[in-house]
Amino acid sequence: PRRRQLTLDEYFEGVIARDVAVLPRALTLVESTRGVHQEMGEQLITRILPHTGKSIRVGITGPPGVGKSTFIEALGTYLARSGRRVAVLAVDPSSGVSGGSILGDKTRMAHLSAEPNAFIRPSPSAGTLGGVARKTRETMLICEAAGFEIVLVETVGVGQSETMVDEMTDCFLALMMPGGGDELQGIKRGLLELVDVIAVNKADGDNRKPAEVAAKQLERILHALPSQGGEPPTVLTCSAREHESIDQVWNAIEHRHQRMEELGALDERRRRQSSNWMWTIVDEQLKQVVRNNPAVVEMRGDLESQVLEGTLAPEAAARQILEACGLK
Ligand code: GDP
Repeated sequence: PRRRQLTLDEYFEGVIARDVAVLPRALTLVESTRGVHQEMGEQLITRILPHTGKSIRVGITGPPGVGKSTFIEALGTYLARSGRRVAVLAVDPSSGVSGGSILGDKTRMAHLSAEPNAFIRPSPSAGTLGGVARKTRETMLICEAAGFEIVLVETVGVGQSETMVDEMTDCFLALMMPGGGDELQGIKRGLLELVDVIAVNKADGDNRKPAEVAAKQLERILHALPSQGGEPPTVLTCSAREHESIDQVWNAIEHRHQRMEELGALDERRRRQSSNWMWTIVDEQLKQVVRNNPAVVEMRGDLESQVLEGTLAPEAAARQILEACGLK
């Protein structure tokens, strides 16, 4: 039987009261692509906004196979058992393409999903990276209003997804594997500027020594690099599989977060993020407005084939499209 649609008040009160039956429904509402739901979702976000902002927001990245889900399961379980309410979210723009979500999948974190203090939400699978990121951010806000004190946002180390997650979190943790030789190779240039803590994972068994060597080397390199204004990232080793040093990784994150708060950097960062998000959403919706414009829908096939055939310059075609929308 179809469930009755909740009213805005019911969504709001359910979230604030930490009602476990309402929370997933509220998230489904904000993730919905249907017009009426979107409008209500937006109203819900506006209403819960004063109840948000109290969590530690952590982005977690690393190449496939580095142990992200093993690590998040270990960290999440550690936090949940120490009495903290932790939400695990994911930004995976490929999840729609591959048909099922990979990141943030409960079956990848079976133990954690059984913890009463933990909540796992897979990546929304709708459309563009901007759209996925926006929904994840809204999910994060709702989780905060529902009393989650720690939000972990997992992402894959490809394309712009790390930048998007950086735009919604307070600090970033990168997981690495002990590699041979060039330790910076495993970490992309742009990421270095985002990252606060680097954990060399799989520091167990035969890998323990190489992991420690890798961490030392990485630390030396990072300290030699020209500073980006802040402190260089904290480098540690851990074993997600053996649940070793997970607490130390967390302490490093919490310590950096506390410092940011004390220095006023956290406030500043979040304010800047809000204003950036405004423009990200404008960009995102503008794209849709243009693409869905009836005149554009009408003319696009024609314009595309002319551009493909080389009889019309892309610049001229773009101008025609924007003019058709009254934007130029
Ligand atoms: P993800 O793709 O980054 O999410 O990586 P997974 O968490 O799925 O882990 C990939 C593989 O590495 C799995 O076979 C894990 O069992 C293994 N793994 C993860 N963490 C550790 C660790 O700390 N030590 C060791 N030895 N193996 C690990």
